[in-house]
Amino acid sequence: MKIILLGPPGTRKGTQAERIVKKYGIPHISTGDMFREAIAKGTELGRMAKGILDQGKFVPDKITIGLVKERLSKPDCKKGFILDGFPRTIPQAEALDKMIKLDKAVLLESSDDIIIKRLSSRRQCRKCNAIYGIDMPPKKKGVCDKCGGQLYQRDDDREEVIRKRLETYNKQTAPLIECYKKKGILAKINGQQTIEKIFEDVVEALI
Ligand code: AMP
Repeated sequence: MKIILLGPPGTRKGTQAERIVKKYGIPHISTGDMFREAIAKGTELGRMAKGILDQGKFVPDKITIGLVKERLSKPDCKKGFILDGFPRTIPQAEALDKMIKLDKAVLLESSDDIIIKRLSSRRQCRKCNAIYGIDMPPKKKGVCDKCGGQLYQRDDDREEVIRKRLETYNKQTAPLIECYKKKGILAKINGQQTIEKIFEDVVEALI
């Protein structure tokens, strides 16, 4: 099962990916999480990516493609994976095509108003990357239900950066939708439904 999750930021790709991982036992590969981990560790990649993420821009294709290529070559990806946040540009999609044959591109759709409301209230766990928000608050404020880690607001979940991220998405990522439609592997899902209903639709699309 080789899947990509497409859609603007804030359409719950990460939340759905967590559920897909649980149901199908395939690894969740989030390029955003990989960059945030590199930033937290202060690696060379992290130092380069920090300013880019803070401005809602994209990390250069060459670096992102290299990172994904290395990750997909690991043994746990043999029986499948879920890619979240990659590809985000046409060159990334072309590079991915050369690496593997995708089974499905799942597109989660939502209006800008809902995205902005959702992202500005989003909190993420520093330790395990679990995601919380208005309709999925943690049991204890600021603490992850799953691992007890500290919850934080991502620097790029501020309204001005969210707007920039949406603009970048519309310009650079939205054109990919047509490519996957042409290949006959696109599944469009209404991302404004409850998390449970979205997941039902995702599972149905993956059958
Ligand atoms: P995400 O967690 O998927 O929203 O990603 C957060 C940020 O990481 C994005 O706004 C980009 O700055 C960067 N990023 C993540 N994935 C990619 C990608 N495939 N290409 C370029 N930049 C990316």
